[in-house]
Amino acid sequence: MKTYKIAAIPADGIGPEVIAAGLQALEALARRDGGFELDVTEFDWGSERYKRTGALMPEDGKEQLKNFDAIFFGAVGAPDVPDHVTLWGLRLPICQGFDQYANVRPTRILPGITSPLAGVGPDDLDWVIVRENSEGEYSGVGGRAHRGQAEEVATEVSIFTRVGVERIMRYAFKLAQSRPRKFLTVVTKSNAQRHGMVMWDEIAAEVAKDFPDVTWDKMLVDAMTVRMVKDPASLDTIVATNLHADILSDLAGALAGSLGVAPTGNIDPERRNPSMFEPIHGSAFDITGKGIANPVATFWTASQMLEHLGEMDAAKRLMRAVDKVCSDGVLTPDVGGTATTKDVTEAVCQAIRGEN
Ligand code: ATP
Ligand code: MG
Repeated sequence: MKTYKIAAIPADGIGPEVIAAGLQALEALARRDGGFELDVTEFDWGSERYKRTGALMPEDGKEQLKNFDAIFFGAVGAPDVPDHVTLWGLRLPICQGFDQYANVRPTRILPGITSPLAGVGPDDLDWVIVRENSEGEYSGVGGRAHRGQAEEVATEVSIFTRVGVERIMRYAFKLAQSRPRKFLTVVTKSNAQRHGMVMWDEIAAEVAKDFPDVTWDKMLVDAMTVRMVKDPASLDTIVATNLHADILSDLAGALAGSLGVAPTGNIDPERRNPSMFEPIHGSAFDITGKGIANPVATFWTASQMLEHLGEMDAAKRLMRAVDKVCSDGVLTPDVGGTATTKDVTEAVCQAIRGEN
């Protein structure tokens, strides 16, 4: 039997609540089929550790994680710690340190959950957004001169490399090829941004030649927001830069009903390093400790993790259980229900155990 070594980093706010729920569902899956085992190690990294020691994770954190098969991450961020400290202190060092260059964000309207788009249901919106996760607009290059003075100048440089663009493009075409519609939309802003974005368009056309069975089109990011709202059924797999996909995936999450149902995988497709799976939402201190955090995003990302580990049957079983529980109306308040985290988790585990 296969044993997967999972590093769990629940971190802050509702992170521990949703990670506990996710681990419960994973255990139910492992036990049901007897096909695999999980060896989970929990790390107490996060804002509390920062307040105690001055660092969110230990200096050799990457070293400690590198032999795990996957990382299961909750949420990071606390009201009394600056956002850039938490972001650059934990998530980003892991994403960048392990070169998890593909950020994969599936979006679909789950049965029983209402989209803010009138008349749009599960059949009309089924996307995967692929976000370039290693360079582009968030490369951190730039600076400020004449700070605070009338002639102040600031630069924020986007770095796009051929290697970086080609590898994410190839990943996106491959993913599109694996989905029933075999359709990819490449998003840029190549009318206004004449260098990096034009290179994106050129590389897309080159890579497309290796995927003759994939149909693809190009969209400018502004027009893309309109298309996502007006014609969601026309889209399937989407690839965009770090910044553009960041924005588009928040829109996608909102269209799917709640941040509480949106998952993401930070993936190293070459499998040199562990990949990291997490709900998109943050630490949500307004509901922390109330027992009402929606665990669905975490179940979904657990399913992504199983898929990445090669446990396809368990991954699908978990999503079938989530679909069933949502369509039965066992929903937390953020998606219009009255159920608690525990209710949803127990219902999902029950559905996993009960399924033939
Ligand atoms: P961050 O600063 O990392 O963005 P945050 O605390 O602002 O974190 P968000 O994830 O941005 O939290 O979420 C915004 C709001 O959406 C939360 O304050 C919460 O009310 C709601 N929310 C987010 N995730 C969930 C969830 N899993 N279940 C229920 N409500 C959620
Ligand atoms: Mg927020």
